[in-house]
Amino acid sequence: MDDVTNDLMSPDALLATVGRYNPKTNETLIRAAFAYGERMHDGQFRHSGEPYFTHPIAVAGILAEQLLDDATLITALLHDTIEDTKSTYTEVAELFGDDIAKLVDGVTKLTNLQLSSSETKQAENFRKLFMAMAKDMRVILVKLADRLHNMRTIKAMRPDKQIQKARETMDIYAPLAGRMGMQWMREELEDLAFRVLNPDGRASIIRRFIRLQKETGDVIEKITGDMRAELAEHNIQAQIIGRAKKPYSIWRKMEEKEQGFSRLSDIFGFRVITNSEEDCYRALGVIHRRWFAVPDRFKDYISQPKTNGYRSIHTTVSGRDGKRVEVQIRTQQMHDVAEAGVAAHWSYRDGMRSKNPFAVDPVKWVASLNEQFGAEDDHVDFLEAVRLEMYSDQVFCFTPKGEVVKLPRGATPLDFAYAIHTRIGSACVGAKVDGLRVPLWTRLKNGQSVEIVTAEAQQPQFTWLDIAATGKAKSAIRRALREQDREKFIKLGAELARSAFENVGRKATDKALETAAKTLRLDGGNSVLANLGSSVLTASEVVRAVYPELVKNSDTSIDVGRAVVGMGQGQAHERALCCEPLPGERIVGITQRGRGVIVHAIDCQALSKFEDSPQRWIDLRWQTGIHPPIHSARLYVTIGNDAGVLGRICTLIGEQGANISDLSFTDRKPDFYRLLLSVELRDAEHLHSIISVLTAEDDVAEVARYQNPKDADESVSEIGPELGI
Ligand code: MN
Repeated sequence: MDDVTNDLMSPDALLATVGRYNPKTNETLIRAAFAYGERMHDGQFRHSGEPYFTHPIAVAGILAEQLLDDATLITALLHDTIEDTKSTYTEVAELFGDDIAKLVDGVTKLTNLQLSSSETKQAENFRKLFMAMAKDMRVILVKLADRLHNMRTIKAMRPDKQIQKARETMDIYAPLAGRMGMQWMREELEDLAFRVLNPDGRASIIRRFIRLQKETGDVIEKITGDMRAELAEHNIQAQIIGRAKKPYSIWRKMEEKEQGFSRLSDIFGFRVITNSEEDCYRALGVIHRRWFAVPDRFKDYISQPKTNGYRSIHTTVSGRDGKRVEVQIRTQQMHDVAEAGVAAHWSYRDGMRSKNPFAVDPVKWVASLNEQFGAEDDHVDFLEAVRLEMYSDQVFCFTPKGEVVKLPRGATPLDFAYAIHTRIGSACVGAKVDGLRVPLWTRLKNGQSVEIVTAEAQQPQFTWLDIAATGKAKSAIRRALREQDREKFIKLGAELARSAFENVGRKATDKALETAAKTLRLDGGNSVLANLGSSVLTASEVVRAVYPELVKNSDTSIDVGRAVVGMGQGQAHERALCCEPLPGERIVGITQRGRGVIVHAIDCQALSKFEDSPQRWIDLRWQTGIHPPIHSARLYVTIGNDAGVLGRICTLIGEQGANISDLSFTDRKPDFYRLLLSVELRDAEHLHSIISVLTAEDDVAEVARYQNPKDADESVSEIGPELGI
């Protein structure tokens, strides 16, 4: 069961192995790689005390057993040079060519990944990361062979290191070998890891195995002998291989089925390798006639191959003693594919790159490969073009603790931060990628390690919506921005409520606000404030909800009748909305059908519309002394984006004896807000004192009187000449 091979290979021995399957091998280059690697690693030793270079030789040996091409073998010989010696990429490229240098570099990159053994989901991400980073599948083949040799010689390591490496092997490398279609490699890796991780479990399997063998004799020899005789009798040429399954496979099967160690079919496997597909079916017939076929255990993967190219007939038969054995029937080509998987593509047989019709097509493995392969037999082009684009729409990055985070291509450190936790995302103020500070909009690349810099006071910003690429981050940012707005509105609403209640001699207590909430059918005092702050409700509506008797049910329209001098008796007038003239400012009236006289400021731009109808103009002036108490005027205020500023503005305006009756945001930039405030005040002088106070405030960038000719809603055509005065 233990087939640990640890032979020291000389260049001659390696070349002899290669020569058996690839007589056209570039012997000079392999010898050069051998000599170079040996020189580079000179003076380095493994944990076992052996010269370090024995390891790359062994890795090359493993790959030579898989009949792989020269580039793969040379990469194996050099795979630790760039990482562990003074050798460089440039030097390897000069000596062995760009392709080899790229392959060696690819292996180095995988070696440098800090793998942390963790849950299944993480392991899956690591495997994908491997595929994404490797670019060329041969990089993975070398890395797997590297791991296999390290696992075979793991006893020389420290016990804690052994466990770490074994976990990695079990979680990442063994499944990866399986995915590459290399079943033998998967089984051996699993078993080597099992030996470290659960020595007792493995020992008990082996003990029971030995006991069983004593009871039943040499089952393998007996059954293979029987089959061989049976097939020979029917003139079917076939090779019969019987083997005991690896302890880990048996263990896993027992765990899966929750059953004891009893069935032979779970322990032994038999393979019948025939010369043709036809012989597979003939052999099946012979076996089924001689032994009993166990129902529901027959599968024909020859007529219906698995998507990974696997072809074989599976059946389970039982003898007269009731003992069951599993039999797989396949041709040699099918067998090669089942064992070598994707490696079959780079393998040679009889000096030719093997053309196995059943081999897994790496191109098909690769989900989106956009290149066309016109000349199938141009292997060099073919090899160069085979790239792992399988996970090209994804990026895998590391946390400082070595966890893998899977992100879509184009993701930024901000997405990374939100992927870890919304709290980390919201508090993100910067990021370090591979130790260097980068802007938040940097696009992340595979294998980068990302560290998020956070600050407690940080809040999600508007600009982040453009930076984030993932839905998770975007929706978290939007939610936070809405929440921030709500907080601002509540703060502002509280100021508005305070002064509105004071105006009627009451206090905006929590209790009063709760009462308002009930009347207005809102869920609590804060909702009332938020609605007030965002001008869904007006201050008087809120006051009225609590003290209906204190608020006159009207009207905004204050009787300014006596305030303006110059109109005819009983003529109604209104302040123009475009310019909102205040007592103290120069004014002019424009007659308006159905509304009387509209009072404009003398410099109002809307007046230009009436230049052609002089009959509509009326000279007006404010009556001094009898100002009606309140006029409203609108102001544009540009403030720094800070939750506290709005509250301070309300307080300042309140201190000037004026009220904010309405407020809306007109423009929002990351670092400032533009608001339109309606302020209730006495006259122009009052307004100017408010503007001065606001302008003096540090966080106020700009204050401007609102003026908009479009708000002059009267149209010239509406005017009947009979109304002209
Ligand atoms: Mn190595």
